Amino acid sequence: MHSPYPGGVLNVQIDGALFDANKEDITVGQSPYMVCRAGFKNVNLISPIPLSSKKSQLDIVLNNNVIESIPLINKEYRESRITITNNDMVSPPKKMLPRIKLEASIIKAAKNINSLSNYFVLPMKMPIKGIESSEFGVKRFINGAPRNRHTGLDIAAPEGTDVYAPLDGIVLLSEEFFYRGNIIYIDHGNGLVSSFSHLQKSLVEKNSKVKAGDLIGKVGKTGRVTGPHLHWEVSILGTTVDPKLFLRTTN
Ligand SMILES: [Zn+2]
Repeated sequence: MHSPYPGGVLNVQIDGALFDANKEDITVGQSPYMVCRAGFKNVNLISPIPLSSKKSQLDIVLNNNVIESIPLINKEYRESRITITNNDMVSPPKKMLPRIKLEASIIKAAKNINSLSNYFVLPMKMPIKGIESSEFGVKRFINGAPRNRHTGLDIAAPEGTDVYAPLDGIVLLSEEFFYRGNIIYIDHGNGLVSSFSHLQKSLVEKNSKVKAGDLIGKVGKTGRVTGPHLHWEVSILGTTVDPKLFLRTTN
């Protein structure tokens, strides 16, 4: 999982005794981090690295002393140019702005949930069978104008294709949003949240428990899309990172 670049995840192991004695005084690159126990002796500090990060290194600091310094890799992300003909989706009408603003705040709150109610065990399962159509981190241009970076992984599949929970969790949101269409947000515990957008329909209700591999929805083309696909997003403590990092790891 250790992927020290913008859009990746820092995963550093330190002495568990050192951590237990000093946890109030340890910072990781000034970002929030989660803690995973690795056997009896060590702990892993896991911190998301924002796509917008311009840092060249991240320091693990204990009481103003750098105990480890991790150089960041300069990962290149490709550009993607798409055309959207429905102008309401490019420049939404003024009357939609309060709704869009409200939905953005609901999403932000969901991504920042840090429940200790359950502990996740990686790796995640791929939530859908399909063809990857746009990877995480792509620099997008809509009708020629630069837009936000692509913060999820797009998988193209026919409408009605099954979508599965990649990991156990609790459904945080199941509703219809302006840009994202029908969405599901799942809290996997400890600050790990994943979401599914543009669904034809959701098959789960808010607050319900899901297990990895459960059918949760169907692929659609709701919201701002150019065709049917799943937009899958994963965040750690509010910061979106590359979902693919969670498919491979075993720790
Ligand atoms: Zn997408």
